[in-house]
Amino acid sequence: MSPTADWIPVDESAALELARALVRLRTVNDPSTGSSELPAVTLVAETMRSFGWEPLITEVAPGRPNVVAVIEGGAGAGPTLMFEGHTDVVTEGDPSDWSFDPFGAEVLDGRLLGRGSADMKAGLAAMIYAARALELEGPFPGRLVVGALVDEEGLMLGAKHFARTALAAEVDGVIIGEPEGGEVCAVAKGAIRLRLDLVGAMAHGAMPQHGRNPIAAVPGILAGIVELQTGLQEELGEHEHLGWCYLTPTVVAAGDLDQMNVIPARCSIGLDIRTVPGVDHGALVGDIVSAARVHARTHEVGLDYEVVDDRPAVDTPVDHPVVRSLVEAHELVHGERPPYGGVPGATDGTILTRDAGLATVVYGPGGKWIAHQADEYVEVAEIGLYARVYAEAARRFLTTGQGVTR
Ligand SMILES: [Zn+2]
Repeated sequence: MSPTADWIPVDESAALELARALVRLRTVNDPSTGSSELPAVTLVAETMRSFGWEPLITEVAPGRPNVVAVIEGGAGAGPTLMFEGHTDVVTEGDPSDWSFDPFGAEVLDGRLLGRGSADMKAGLAAMIYAARALELEGPFPGRLVVGALVDEEGLMLGAKHFARTALAAEVDGVIIGEPEGGEVCAVAKGAIRLRLDLVGAMAHGAMPQHGRNPIAAVPGILAGIVELQTGLQEELGEHEHLGWCYLTPTVVAAGDLDQMNVIPARCSIGLDIRTVPGVDHGALVGDIVSAARVHARTHEVGLDYEVVDDRPAVDTPVDHPVVRSLVEAHELVHGERPPYGGVPGATDGTILTRDAGLATVVYGPGGKWIAHQADEYVEVAEIGLYARVYAEAARRFLTTGQGVTR
């Protein structure tokens, strides 16, 4: 059997048109100008209704709804697969940094141009038409969920909201359509934002002996953090898809440049911590705080800390059916196995894994590094190719017995 003979036919031109229509909508979340994901949500819902689907629209924040459709296969019990994308985009920044209209959705030299083309309106359109193509092929076991969620570029409110729904508890695998340059990313880095607050006592700069300067503790604390990072890197090595763990101080804030004769009472240190699977976040925060406390005590200043954000790493096994189905589908469509990769930041998948325990894998059209840059684009041909892979992956996951049967 030739591999091409078996492809599920996808309406590629409709997928491109949907991607273009989505790019034309400036779905930056910006309450000050009233812009949000809403126009894209409306368009996605209208498209779904035109297929006869009954999308559920749920407001996550004022004017910011998730849209989720469930397509029952109609061929009996089976697993539930979710296609997931987000409807928001990051700002275009200064339009003069762009060589084309960021919201023109122009197609030029085989590329769809514009903010959100790669991240991730092409992926979302490809997933919607892949689901439609599978449905048109005839009944299949189990069901497919297509979710277009809000606020991925912000606090991931859409994913957090979906993770709490009864439907989420029934999902057996999720494919996230973020741009990863052809890589199948079953792993993603973890992240912690940690704030350390040192509390001393104000004094006149001429009489430092009457104060307790929190800045005095900073060099020791930063050196201690470097030491912990070195230890962690030696212990874990370089992850093949995610690289090194990093404990990066990104903020040191104390005093006032207009008041240099005042010893400040407080000093705050902000840390951006990036981990790989296997790192115990609670234990790591404990180690950092204990090391910092030693230096705080030496300088007689107090120490408070706050974990501002905690996102564990994603580590979906490559032999999980959702990953295996995707790899096999890619091979069928492209004639070769895809490379595995890793997500350096976080996606909605991080939240769906953390809050609902879902097996997630990230794979979508567009270059890995093009997201959030000026002159964002996606290759038009990729929209159709990814849609084919998605449709085939779904068929395999749901029908060939490789899925997880509940
Ligand atoms: Zn994205």
